[in-house]
Amino acid sequence: MTSLVDAHVHLYEFNRKEIEDFISSNMLLVAVAEDYDSSIRNLELRDEFPENVRACVGLHPWNVKQEADALRQLEQINGLLKEADCVGEVGLDLKFTPTTFNLQKQVFQALLDMAVSHSLPLNLHAAGAWSQVFEMLVQRGAKKAIFHWYTGPISLLQEITEKGLYISINASASIQEKSKNIARNTPLHLLLTESDGPYSYRGLNLSPLLIPGLVKLISNLKRIEEGKLTQEIHKNITTLFQKH
Ligand SMILES: [Zn+2]
Repeated sequence: MTSLVDAHVHLYEFNRKEIEDFISSNMLLVAVAEDYDSSIRNLELRDEFPENVRACVGLHPWNVKQEADALRQLEQINGLLKEADCVGEVGLDLKFTPTTFNLQKQVFQALLDMAVSHSLPLNLHAAGAWSQVFEMLVQRGAKKAIFHWYTGPISLLQEITEKGLYISINASASIQEKSKNIARNTPLHLLLTESDGPYSYRGLNLSPLLIPGLVKLISNLKRIEEGKLTQEIHKNITTLFQKH
């Protein structure tokens, strides 16, 4: 069955009514975590809605603050990997949290190795650190990953997609020219859609409800019929989340 895809959403932050609305619209929701507690919430939501929710576990780079706490959470998250569908939201951030960069690298390396050893896809945050995150993936041999809300250079986008890694276009593309350009330059077989909801971007309240409009926008940008685009995106997420 073909449904719309939100490849990066902080699902547990929405209220019960909103979550039920997303589920009843038959969307596939990849729920990302920010820490151990939200990792648990994601697994619970996935178990409740197994058809519609994929559960990521992880430690967001913004929550990497202090070494002892980060190491403790890594160990707890490691214990959840057997049940998880993916590892995220993980990565590096030089744009908003540059002061903890060294510790972020240490934590990301550990999470990368966990994902690779369990053959789980990564849901990546790489604001201001696109090339550093890409280099670490290549170094550690990670072959399954989504670069969430990619806004890095087009030359690096080519390197990323040559490795068969996925790019998710954020719903903010409606007001962000950079994202439109990324959508135009991403090969169809590696393209995904996402909201990053419930984050607010320049007054736009991001939510899975914006995905239909995003698909319409991308279908115009890439001159692909909407139904065909929906099918392709669904095929992409299915391929990425195939267990083997
Ligand atoms: Zn996010």
